[in-house]
Amino acid sequence: CGIIARVGEDDALGEILAGLRTLEYRGYDSAGVAVRSDDGLGVCKREGETDALDAALVGRDLSGSVGIGHTRWSTHGPPSDANAHPHTDADERVAVVHNGIIRNYESLRRELREEGYRFTSETDTEVVPHLVARELDAGTDAETAFRSAVDQLEGSYALAMVVADEDAVYATRHGSPLVLGIGDDARYLASDVPAFVEFTDRVVYLEDDDVVILDDDGHRIATIDGGPVERETETVGWTA
Ligand code: GLU
Repeated sequence: CGIIARVGEDDALGEILAGLRTLEYRGYDSAGVAVRSDDGLGVCKREGETDALDAALVGRDLSGSVGIGHTRWSTHGPPSDANAHPHTDADERVAVVHNGIIRNYESLRRELREEGYRFTSETDTEVVPHLVARELDAGTDAETAFRSAVDQLEGSYALAMVVADEDAVYATRHGSPLVLGIGDDARYLASDVPAFVEFTDRVVYLEDDDVVILDDDGHRIATIDGGPVERETETVGWTA
């Protein structure tokens, strides 16, 4: 299972798919991507190998400079197209990829369903986009919505989220790995360095509960409450 996210110049999809292929060694049963353009979010996901995702992408125009990708190792819900990540809210305002297990998903899902949020998968992950949607529905901005959604989660997670109306990625980790890559023209997040080392060797190893925001201006790392965080940038001594 693995995560990749990318914000920068030029199209994101090629680098995201390359990143997913390097994450295959971690094991997976499904793969998917979401790319953000001025038309909103384009999502494509398939059960099976990344070849099945490649085939599904033929004829799709997923251009855009911001995106996320995922290889899934199922824990909640069998391998299927519907259970593959990314997961979205009903209006596709947000798309989320997740590695790990959200332990309190049943109570969150029950609560959200009672409030009218409709679920389309059997995963624990799907509570996250709906939690964010609930915050957006209440009028909060994406960053605050992401923080307060994450604040409600128990379990282990590396999470990355794209939104329909911003060139930005929001991400965090808690008990699952997540590394930031800082290139000249793009920034990356991934479960492991090989996913982006072809594009940059400058990395920041994130720690539990760091919240990272990538946008056109660069990257910001903060605590879950928005407090400042200093993390060292290292140059990795190996290349693709
Ligand atoms: N628990 C999530 C699922 O079953 C994520 C699994 C993973 O880490 O790939 O969909």
